[in-house]
This record gives sequence, C-alpha cells and structure tokens, in this order.
Amino acid sequence: MEYKLFIDGRWVDGGPRLEVRNKYTGEVIGALPTARREDVDAAIAAAAQAAPQMAEMPAHKRSEILAKTSALIRERREEFARTIAAEAGKALKYARAEVDRGITTFAIAAEEAKRIHGETVPLDAVPAGEGYFGFWVRRPVGVIAAISPFNFPLNLVAHKVAPAIAAGNSVVLKPASTTPLTAVKLCQVLTEAGLPPGALNLVVGSGSTVGEWLVTDPRVAKVTFTGSPPVGERILAIAGIKKVTLELGNTSPVVVAPDADLEFVAKRCAVGAYYNSGQVCISVQRIYSQRQVYEPFTEQFVKASEAMVVGDPLDERVDVGPMIDVREAERIEGWVQEAQAGGARVLTGGKREGAVYWPTVLTDVRPEMRVVAEEAFAPVAAVIACDDFEEALRQADATPYGLQVAVFTRDIQRVFQAIKRLNFGGVIINDTPVFRADHMPYGGNRRSGLGREGVRYAIEEMTNIQMVAIRLG
Ligand code: NAP
Repeated sequence: MEYKLFIDGRWVDGGPRLEVRNKYTGEVIGALPTARREDVDAAIAAAAQAAPQMAEMPAHKRSEILAKTSALIRERREEFARTIAAEAGKALKYARAEVDRGITTFAIAAEEAKRIHGETVPLDAVPAGEGYFGFWVRRPVGVIAAISPFNFPLNLVAHKVAPAIAAGNSVVLKPASTTPLTAVKLCQVLTEAGLPPGALNLVVGSGSTVGEWLVTDPRVAKVTFTGSPPVGERILAIAGIKKVTLELGNTSPVVVAPDADLEFVAKRCAVGAYYNSGQVCISVQRIYSQRQVYEPFTEQFVKASEAMVVGDPLDERVDVGPMIDVREAERIEGWVQEAQAGGARVLTGGKREGAVYWPTVLTDVRPEMRVVAEEAFAPVAAVIACDDFEEALRQADATPYGLQVAVFTRDIQRVFQAIKRLNFGGVIINDTPVFRADHMPYGGNRRSGLGREGVRYAIEEMTNIQMVAIRLG
C-alpha cells in the first residue's frame, strides 16, 4: 500500500520512498515518500498559516473535533491495532490496549479544551499595583513540532497532537521512521473529524535531517519530543530559544518489601518487564528484593517469565513479539553476554532468534553493568538482593534517570519513606512503574526529561501565560 505526506490538508509526494515492514515477518506492509527540505519548509509554512485560525477557533469547536477523532478511532479500532501490531511488532492484545488508550487520550483532550483558563491577580497587593486590575490568560504558542518514538505509534502521538489542538495550536508531526503508518491513519481521522488544512501536517524521514530541520526552524515555537536521552540532549542543544518538552528514558526500578504479596508482584513484574518486548520507557528493569524474600520472589518471577508466550504479534495468544529490529535484539544479547562474563547469571531466557529476544531474568548483577546502569529497552530484568528496605530505596534511586519507580508494600510507614526518598516524576505503590493513566501528570526528573505530559499538563506546556494589567480610572 502506497501512502503520502500530509501537508496543508493535501496528500503529497516527496523524496525517496521509505518502506515500512512487518517487524516479525519482514514483509513490506506500506511505503511512503520521505520529506525533502522543501517539503518540511512547506509543512512549517502551512502550520504557520493555520496557527491564527486555530488560535481563533472557539473551544467548543476544538473540543468537537477531538471528540469526533476519538469516536472515529473507535470505529477503526481493529485496523489501528493491526497496523500497530505489524509495524511496531507489538502483541495484538497490547496493540488493542494502545488503541483504547488513544481513544481515551483524544476524549480527555476534548474535555480539557473547554477548561483552559487563567486567574485574576490582585495587583494592589503591592503599592505599585494600586488602581490596576490584573488577570492572566493562556494563549497557544503557535506552531508545534511533535517528534515521536516507535514504541507507541498511536498513543504517544496522541499525547502530543491532542493537547496541541485542544490548546489552539497547529502541528508538524514527525513520527519514528520505523512506524509512520499509524500516524498516516491518524491524520486521515483528524481530517475527517473536521480539522482545517494546515492545522496538522505529517512529514516522514530520518531524525538527523527532517527532525533537525524542524527543531531548528525559527517559525516553530515549541518542540515536543519523546525518545532517547542522547537525541533529547541534541534537541535541547540545537533548538534555540523555544519551548522544549522532553520525555526520555529510564532504568525503571521496583522495590519489593518483605510484606508484599510475592506471587502477585512476580506476575505484575513479568507483564511490566516483557510487555512490548520491554521497549517501554517505564519497563521493569531493576527489581530490589529484600533478602528474606529474595529466593521465593525470584522463583515466582522466573515462573511468571517462563509463562510468557513468545511469537508472531498478530497471533492472539502471543505476549511477546519481536524487538523493533534485529540490531536491537543483538544489542541486548551482547549486554546480557557481557553481564554473564562479569559474573551475572541468566535464570531464564538469554535466547535470541532474529529480532525476537526471549524474556530474560538476571541475577548476581553489579550496579555498573549496562543491564543495570543503562536503559535496557528490551525484555530483560535483574533481581537484586538487598539487606533492608532503606538500602533497596537507596539503590533504586542511585541512577541518573527519574521517570517512574514502583514500591510494593502494605506498610504505610514504608510508603511515605519511599515517596520522600525517591526522586522520580512518578512513584507507583503496589503496582509496577508501567502504570499510567492518560490524564495523570507524566514525565521525568533528572536525565529522564523536561516538562510533563498527560493532556492538561501538556496543554500548560503548549501555551504561554499572557498577563493583562488594566489601569483603572
Ligand atoms: P529515538 O531514536 O530517540 O527516536 C525518537 C524520534 O526522534 C524518532 O522520530 C527519531 O527519528 C527522531 N530523531 C532521531 N534523531 C533525531 C535528531 N537528531 N533530531 C530530531 N529528531 C530525531 O528513540 P526511539 O528508539 O524511537 O524510542 C526509544 C526511546 O524513547 C527510549 O529511550 C525510551 O525510553 C524513550 N521513550 C520515552 C517515553 C517517555 O514518555 N518518557 C515514552 C516512550 C519512549 P527516526 O525514527 O527517523 O530515527
């Protein structure tokens, strides 16, 4: 199937063709042109031209477009899910769950579009403000460049496009080169829902060209990026003076206190570690178990890991499909072998066939090993024994990252001790770091990023506060 770029409300040609493959079979499932410099320029110009119209559009109209988009995705649920399963290699059941979340994200944005407001400011609180009336409002920033990763081709695009439209902005979207087809379908749906030409433009092509042309263009007022920390750093270095939101990686820790329900924790950790082949920014990677429950917990975790069904993501029974490409599977295979050479033990998994890497449990790891210190982004988790709860918290927090962390305990004292000790954007109690509801504030501290998503919080990042002071009399 041949697709095109979407610029100024029209499907247009561009430069060299990009083939998109099914990540399990390798079969070509679609192709589309990559954007040349002039195509990116046209997309930004169209967005800049549409920006005033979007800013003027009444809130109820923006809300209606977003609500209709949500309904249209629901109508095409299975088509979206199969596209995600094929182009991202995500097991169909999780691809369907992603589509359901995308439907919700647009529905939340439809609601939030109606409640963007400011507040009054008592200017006479200082002598200079006597005789003035003050208030502030939120104004859309203008053109937003949205750059998204491969691992959630619908919902992470939704988390950028939906709040941008809710706030009255226009968008140029650059999806990951491995997974652009879901984004094409989203553009179709938004157009059918009534979004005016130029309000959303789609350009496809490599990050180092198309991505950087967008990031550095002075007409772009804001860059919203989800992806890896090195690319996030690069974007921040070259963006110039514009707003930047960065949603980056993590080495997600889990702390298991001795009072936790070990079988439940083991099963939740297995889903949290292997879902989407561990290619989730909040995938379970480091599990700190107190020594007195380390053995029974590890036994349960290995059992739950071995229960995962590995195979073709389009097969209904499968839990774990391929990684995004064979190089990624070879990378993690190398990391695990390196850990083994340093004394780590593989309790299950450690096997690769093409792009498929089996759910893998490691133990006897050391903090400096890459499987612990760096984002694994693969179906690999390590169980680490700790002497006490305090030590488990210390090790969990000993990372340059800070997206989400989980603690399993029924002890309220431990809950509050954990909240205070952990420098993460999200602390999840009695579930894994993978927990996310699409309206909650979501984002990282430290090297995990800048800013927050979660529709309402993204709207705050995608608007400027405009202060109005009126001298009375
Ligand atoms: P990536 O390699 O950083 O790519 C993300 C996007 O950035 C892609 O569209 C990519 O284009 C583009 N890009 C690459 N280089 C660029 C540059 N120099 N300038 C502008 N754009 C550029 O990440 P990925 O492999 O797709 O995704 C995995 C990473 O995303 C992991 O680190 C994961 O933790 C993170 N992630 C974070 C969150 C979160 O919410 N915090 C959620 C999901 C994923 P190409 O595809 O053409 O290379």
